[in-house]
Amino acid sequence: MQVVTDSSALKESLSELSDKNYRIGLVPTMGGLHAGHGSLVTTARSACDVVVVSIFVNPIQFAPSEDFASYPRDLLGDRQKLASWGADILFVPEESDLYPDGLSGMRVQPPAQLTSGLCGPGRPQHFAGVLTVVLKLLNLIRPHVAYFGQKDFQQWRLIQQMATELLLGVTIVRCPTVREPDGLALSSRNAYLDSRERLAARGLSRSLATILEHYQKGERAAAILLERGHCAWDDWFAKNACLIPQLEYLSLVDTRTLEPVERVSAESVAAVAARVGKARLIDNVLLAPASPDLPLLSWPAAILVE
Ligand code: AMP
Repeated sequence: MQVVTDSSALKESLSELSDKNYRIGLVPTMGGLHAGHGSLVTTARSACDVVVVSIFVNPIQFAPSEDFASYPRDLLGDRQKLASWGADILFVPEESDLYPDGLSGMRVQPPAQLTSGLCGPGRPQHFAGVLTVVLKLLNLIRPHVAYFGQKDFQQWRLIQQMATELLLGVTIVRCPTVREPDGLALSSRNAYLDSRERLAARGLSRSLATILEHYQKGERAAAILLERGHCAWDDWFAKNACLIPQLEYLSLVDTRTLEPVERVSAESVAAVAARVGKARLIDNVLLAPASPDLPLLSWPAAILVE
């Protein structure tokens, strides 16, 4: 695996490849890599000739009160993981490479409709920061395909919309969320959790699994499903006598508009965000009918049985 730390060296490596008509796949990350990132890299590996992974903790997507300074950074460990997953090029740019005119310049403005709910209100500048850095990476690397995780559903939806509306000519692929065996979605920020917080964090996937379970049993009213999700949330902390995370939202929204729905369908997603200690965690599940083809569907039953 080639490690490249500036954009001119990157362009040089990529121009040799594009001459050969190789299909280039990009996996943008902020490092602190785990098996969730690994699934994006191996998916790219199976579909592309060249897999480029970027690691960049993007300052403009963090509010001053957020964890930019303490975000998990482990370049050595990340390099080893990426080599074992089969990445070809690791791009680790300096801040000045992506922001040559400083951090207060040009931003991609996301549409209000897609940022007025879920994580938008709690993180007002976040998605503009994400879209800006993703656009820069897409412009530098010019991949045919870029891979993102379903775990960050709103982020994926905004990037998909940006690619379509700005005619970027890149295919945006959404990869399923990778979870711990007990249901917790993998996240770099799980590294912040102590054992009590780790137990409490399971409340997120428990409430989503409960919503999915009731959906699969036939319930379609969003208000009832949300009530079931809230009950599962409260029960989890009562049963385990663990600390209670601060719930930011538990919502049922349309997968395309991200607006709240009254009746759910296979076009709905249940999403949750909560603060557990110093970690802000998010998770979501697509409401899909029970089917042996969907690996997630063995999940609710498995994690609801204690
Ligand atoms: P991050 O490094 O957290 O910015 O994430 C980089 C990419 O990995 C994003 O597209 C995330 O959605 C994706 N990702 C993070 N966690 C997971 C997970 N548990 N399963 C699948 N993809 C993930």
